[in-house]
Formats: sequence, C-alpha cells, structure tokens
Amino acid sequence: QAKARGGSALHFYSQQMFDAFQNRLALEADLKQALLQGQFDLHLQPQIRFSDRRLTGLEALLRWQSPSRGMVPPDEFISVLEYAQLMIPVGYWVIEQSCQILANLQQQGLADLRLAINLSTAQLNDPELPAFLDKMLKLYPQAAGSLEFELTESLLASNIPDTIASMQQLKARGFRLAIDDFGTGYSSLSYLRQMPVDIIKIDKSFVFGMLDNQADFDIITSTIAMVRKLGLEVVAEGVETQAQAKTLQQHACDIGQGYLFSRPIPSNELVSRIQAGLDESGRWR
Ligand code: C2E
Ligand code: MG
Ligand code: MG
Ligand code: MG
Repeated sequence: QAKARGGSALHFYSQQMFDAFQNRLALEADLKQALLQGQFDLHLQPQIRFSDRRLTGLEALLRWQSPSRGMVPPDEFISVLEYAQLMIPVGYWVIEQSCQILANLQQQGLADLRLAINLSTAQLNDPELPAFLDKMLKLYPQAAGSLEFELTESLLASNIPDTIASMQQLKARGFRLAIDDFGTGYSSLSYLRQMPVDIIKIDKSFVFGMLDNQADFDIITSTIAMVRKLGLEVVAEGVETQAQAKTLQQHACDIGQGYLFSRPIPSNELVSRIQAGLDESGRWR
C-alpha cells in the first residue's frame, strides 16, 4: 500500500513501526548529546591467566550513564551508534580514554597490563583509523605494546582481503588482535589461518553451558586444542564458577575473564580495586 502511493515520504505500516522509528530517533539524538556532554564511561574487566592466577590485562567496556534513561547497557546502544554513524567518533573517545587509563596504571606501578578495546567493523574499515592511532601513540607512546583490539567474527564474512589489510595496519603498529565471541559467527578455520590474529576469545554462551551440555563442552575443548595448535592464545569469557575455571584450566585454556574473577570495574575505582584484588604474591585472589 505504502509503495503504491509512491513518492519519497516515509510510510509506516503500523503504529508499532512508527513508535519504533520515533524511539530510535530519540535514542540517536540522546547518544549525540552523550558524546558531547561526556556521559560515556569505560568499565574495565580483569583477565586472569589460569596457570599462575596473574592479572594479564583488562577489557574496556563502554558504559552510558544517561541523565534521563539511567545506565544503558551497550547491547542496547552499540548497534544504534553504528547505524547512526556515531561509532567511529565514540570509538575514538574509547581509544583515547583507554590510552589515558593505561598511562595512569603505569604511573601507579601497574605496568605490563594489556588493555583490550572492542572495535566495530565500521571502525576497522575507517580510513582515518591508522592516522588517529599514530596520533595516540605520539601522545601515549607506552600504549603501543599494551593495546589489543577485539574484532568479531562477522567481519570475516565478507571482503577478506580488505579486512586482512586493515588488520595488518594495526599489527604494524604493534597492537595485538583478538577474535571476539568466537563460535557464534561464520568464521571459517581456513580464514582464521590467514588472519594476522593473536588471540581467540571463546564466546560466553559456550562457557555457560559447558558443564551441563556435552555439545558445549566438546566445542570448548576442541576449540582450545585447535587454537593452541595454531599457536594462538585462547581466552574464555563468561567464567562464573570455580568448576568452570578448573575445567578450562585442565583443558589448557590460557586466560579467563568473567564474574568469578571480577565484574567490569568503573574507571575511577580501577587502581584501588586492582590493588585489593591482588594478594602479596601478585596472584588474583
Ligand atoms: P564483549 O566484547 O563480548 O564483552 C563481554 C561481555 O560479557 C560484556 O558485556 C561483559 O560485561 C560480559 N561478561 C563478562 N563476564 C561475564 C560473566 O561472567 N557473566 C555474564 N553474564 N556476562 C559477562 P557488556 O559490557 O554488556 O558489553 C556487551 C558488548 O558490547 C560487548 O561484548 C561488545 O561487543 C560491545 N561493546 C562494549 N564496549 C564496546 C566498545 O567500546 N566498542 C564496541 N565497538 N563495542 C563494545
Ligand atoms: Mg570484547
Ligand atoms: Mg565477547
Ligand atoms: Mg559479546
């Protein structure tokens, strides 16, 4: 019907569709304000090496404290940022903030920590990204060996040569690369072999089920074995129980991240929470 009327005006098939559209526009407008008014924050979640229980690094996770909506989780706004072409500017903010956090940690005597940043496909394909990163490295030279970028499997689905070229630009600057949410997307093992990737993060949905569900257990243990055979590091996300941690360690998973070790920590509490989390011998409690 809407099509039959032609023209360039937007036509809505139902009240629900209209409401959804309006909500979306309001959310976009609020997100633009969020960036201008400094309503974003980073929370940092510890990553622990199973073999010696040391803190190896942190993942930066974006948080939005909206004055009208309260704390909005990223799953509700990242896709809107992407759609509204705001992910690139917000991503720049995330990267600069992460560099500042790293510099601050090093000042407090917490050197050698890695910091992992999530990167959307639009950000990886952004032609300005390399120049922006070079600017950051001039301002924060210590970030080079410490920053890590997490990419999702979905970007392995198309345009492999361009993706690999963009990844190589990051590798050339000394950054490590991880594939996030591994097992949920389309990644083919042959592509994985061609990718300049250092780390595989097994999706938390497999970890949640691994002790109750034989299929999840098999996926986890065979993924760990394969990743290690490729010479890559393997991280399990969503580790919530000691039993999961023990089994992951037994199957030679390198690193764990999850509520068992810590929830994501607000940036202003980071140093004190890390200091409280480490015992005298530097092991995570
Ligand atoms: P992700 O990168 O896979 O991050 C892991 C998510 O799992 C985080 O959700 C984290 O809080 C949650 N998590 C960690 N351990 C546990 C656990 O033991 N149990 C449970 N139930 N959850 C756990 P969060 O912070 O809500 O972020 C959701 C997603 O939003 C991230 O998934 C990432 O894809 C995206 N995201 C977050 N920050 C950024 C960002 O700065 N840039 C981009 N492009 N995406 C981001
Ligand atoms: Mg991630
Ligand atoms: Mg993940
Ligand atoms: Mg995820």
